[in-house]
Amino acid sequence: MFTSRSIRLINLPRRISSSTPLEVKWKFHPGPRLGIQSRNMATNGVQTNGVNGTSIKHDFSTLKVNQSRLLDAIHTGCKFGADHRYGDHPTETGMARLSLNDADKQVRDWFTATAKALNCVVTVDQMGNQFAVRAGKNASAPPIMMGSHLDTQPTGGRYDGILGVNSGLEVLKVLHENNWDTEGSVGVVNWTNEEGARFPMMAVSSGVWADVVPLETAWNLAEVSPGEDGQHKTMKQELERIGYLGPQPASYKAFPMAAHFEVHIEQGPILETEKRRVGVVKGVQAFKWFEITVKGRDSHAGTTPFSARMDSMLCAAKLIVESNAIAKRHNGLSTTGILTGQPGSVNTMAHTVTFTLDIRHTADDKLAEIEKECRVHFARIAEKECEKGCTVAWKELVDSPAVNFHADCIAAVEASTKEVCQALPSTSDDGQLWKYMISGAGHDSCYTNRRCPTSMIFTQTKDGISHNPQEYCSPEDCAIGAQVLLGAVLRYDKLRAERGDFS
Ligand SMILES: [Zn+2]
Repeated sequence: MFTSRSIRLINLPRRISSSTPLEVKWKFHPGPRLGIQSRNMATNGVQTNGVNGTSIKHDFSTLKVNQSRLLDAIHTGCKFGADHRYGDHPTETGMARLSLNDADKQVRDWFTATAKALNCVVTVDQMGNQFAVRAGKNASAPPIMMGSHLDTQPTGGRYDGILGVNSGLEVLKVLHENNWDTEGSVGVVNWTNEEGARFPMMAVSSGVWADVVPLETAWNLAEVSPGEDGQHKTMKQELERIGYLGPQPASYKAFPMAAHFEVHIEQGPILETEKRRVGVVKGVQAFKWFEITVKGRDSHAGTTPFSARMDSMLCAAKLIVESNAIAKRHNGLSTTGILTGQPGSVNTMAHTVTFTLDIRHTADDKLAEIEKECRVHFARIAEKECEKGCTVAWKELVDSPAVNFHADCIAAVEASTKEVCQALPSTSDDGQLWKYMISGAGHDSCYTNRRCPTSMIFTQTKDGISHNPQEYCSPEDCAIGAQVLLGAVLRYDKLRAERGDFS
């Protein structure tokens, strides 16, 4: 949700990286199937890059994530902030780990301890973002980071964000137990307040890191619901209270990243419906949020004939129905999540109705068309189709253009996905177990994509349900996501070496 304190994110600079045509100068050996020994030990995993005849080993396809260890970590971390029990099993609860509350402090401490046990250096920035880095052979170069978030919605589940951070930690555990030296450093980042549920700005802390959201704006965000003392505390106050206002500037300049990869549950029904296991995410759809205010006139419900009415609630209802029809015509989406009327009396028409409008499309130009048509038709309906007429005013709250992830990161995820899917039973009608996807929701990766090559990996989400205590991704699908992440990160790591990032 958001309130009038939501910050306008308009006229922002577009991402600095661009999706260039696929340009990978080397190829991977397909490698062995998951859990099956190599069929060709003589050549498996060894590539020659053709530059000075140097051979570089790519035998990382023997590295496997540990499914039970991954699930154990997910549920161990979820002890901090577990809530909304729905079944008898210890893990059958949802989560209520609002950003920077006491449970969030506990899981942050657990994250730090886990990463330090893997010989990572853990730093914290001014937004409480936690960066755990495992040094590679070229430790002075920026690390590849695997990121997501550990905060949840007030009625959240055990996977949204949590799977991404734990997949990153599991990748580090696999590297650690195999004494695997990466070319560059590799790490995990826990972004603060991604949900925007407690402090009403989504992905605010990756936004500060990307230099899109000013630090002071983020620090001054006040919590939506007051604490027990009736006070609305700010982000900065709560960062200080739990000891996570770090010394490191929250900026891509202070903590540059070579790339950012994020595993996330799909939060929709597509993979499950099509019986596929992995979404190779190419970008995020564009969306805009508005607050629409309809003004009419309050008058008596019994004595005012229809012809004399300026009924703002009736008008708002027609506008919402119209926005739905317009979005459908353009294959987009429209949603009204909040609607309030004043004065709020059974037998009096509302003089003012305010509602939110969230419109989305994969293409910026189509989103602009949806907005334009809504503006034209809202004005017409308010004037001509609501008896004596009402007025409509628009306030733009958020403008988030479509995001296109980086071709090199998408290629690394795709190659890893293909290898992982080879070993899985064929379930889909066409035999393909993965698909390209465009994310319907915003993520921290939208902001990192502005400052470093980025892409995402989606896993199945039971019944497409998230932001709900019963949100679920099966252990097998959690492990598939982590395994794809492992392969993608190591492929990108090799790419860096081959193209001379470290020379
Ligand atoms: Zn999330």
